[in-house]
Amino acid sequence: MKKIKLTTILTVILASLLVVACGKVMITGRNQLLLYNQGDITALSDQAYTEIMSESKISTNRAHNATVKKVGEDLTRAVESYLAKNGWQKEAEGLDWKYEVIENDQVNAFCLPNGKIVFYEGIMKITNTPDLVAVVMGHEIAHALAKHGNERMSQEVMMGMAGQAISAFIGSEDQKKQMIFQVAFGLGSQLGVLLPYSRKHEYEADRLGLIIMAMAGYDINVAPGFWEKTSKGGANQSDFFSTHPSDEKRVAEIKKIMPEAAKYKPVKN
Ligand SMILES: [Zn+2]
Repeated sequence: MKKIKLTTILTVILASLLVVACGKVMITGRNQLLLYNQGDITALSDQAYTEIMSESKISTNRAHNATVKKVGEDLTRAVESYLAKNGWQKEAEGLDWKYEVIENDQVNAFCLPNGKIVFYEGIMKITNTPDLVAVVMGHEIAHALAKHGNERMSQEVMMGMAGQAISAFIGSEDQKKQMIFQVAFGLGSQLGVLLPYSRKHEYEADRLGLIIMAMAGYDINVAPGFWEKTSKGGANQSDFFSTHPSDEKRVAEIKKIMPEAAKYKPVKN
């Protein structure tokens, strides 16, 4: 039997790894490292979501539920239709959108990497118009579509930050993945409170969030004022505005991207 050179094997392995590992963020075109497939991310997020919801109570406030659902459907429909028209439809794979408001006074909202969006009653006092709900929702949807969760898990593995926890743990591949997921998101320590994303991810989510708002025909002009007003918050560690610090730099960045976002016209479904 003919021997296959080791270098050939290594080249093939490396090439296939690179195919899996490289991704491009929709619209911004930024290259990113993605070591996990969306199927894994979706499965892990589904588990986390079931856990969070089993310990939560859906809000009885009909108006809040209706607003969050309407804004969510408007934004996701618009962006998905834009992605489909521009050959980016793969970006929405593994995202099964759902919008819930839960009875909790915390000022918080999140979107898991499987498309499950949760608003807490506490944040509804601040996002008291559909446009303001759209500012937070657009930003959260952007994190999911831009695969920031997968990228963070990949970065943690590359930097070996999750390594310590994992090497001390002998378990199946699935259990290891679950552990990396929990380390990357900080889930498990506090109900539904996700670790803050990096500044780079935050700014990218702000930019894409505004673009998604514009695609759905919402008023992006409320965004700078919203972030300016909430910059005084953040006293509570589990507060949305502590993981989304709004300082002068953030507001300045948002103002800078307003003209770009304004170029996006409402997408006809
Ligand atoms: Zn964010």
